[in-house]
Amino acid sequence: MDVPTQTHLTELRQLLVYRQRELESEIHAAELARRDAPVAAVVQEVRDGKDEAGLAQGTAVDDAQQRRDLDELACVQAALRRLDDGSYGDCSDCGEPIPLRRLLVQPAAMRCAACQAAHEHRPRADTH
Ligand SMILES: [Zn+2]
Repeated sequence: MDVPTQTHLTELRQLLVYRQRELESEIHAAELARRDAPVAAVVQEVRDGKDEAGLAQGTAVDDAQQRRDLDELACVQAALRRLDDGSYGDCSDCGEPIPLRRLLVQPAAMRCAACQAAHEHRPRADTH
């Protein structure tokens, strides 16, 4: 059987709750860093104006990381809600059970591997 048992579901919930806490603290830390950033930027500017480009790039990377963290947190929270309403483990696209192997690697997965691949490769223009 490749379908999660109650024991697996408990284990997966623990993984998700742990990941949720981890992401929340990362996001919180990033927000604190962002609050301090304007001060750091001013100090940097006074010291060497030429470093502005490098500084802006660093902020963009942080923003992308922050967005990834927020996206993942939303997925993790959605997975926890699915655990609560009993729909957890079913592919959101084709409705087939997601293999347990995949869930253990990626507890927040909402699609089976085939649907996820199709979703990722679908050009954005096709959605409208
Ligand atoms: Zn599927």
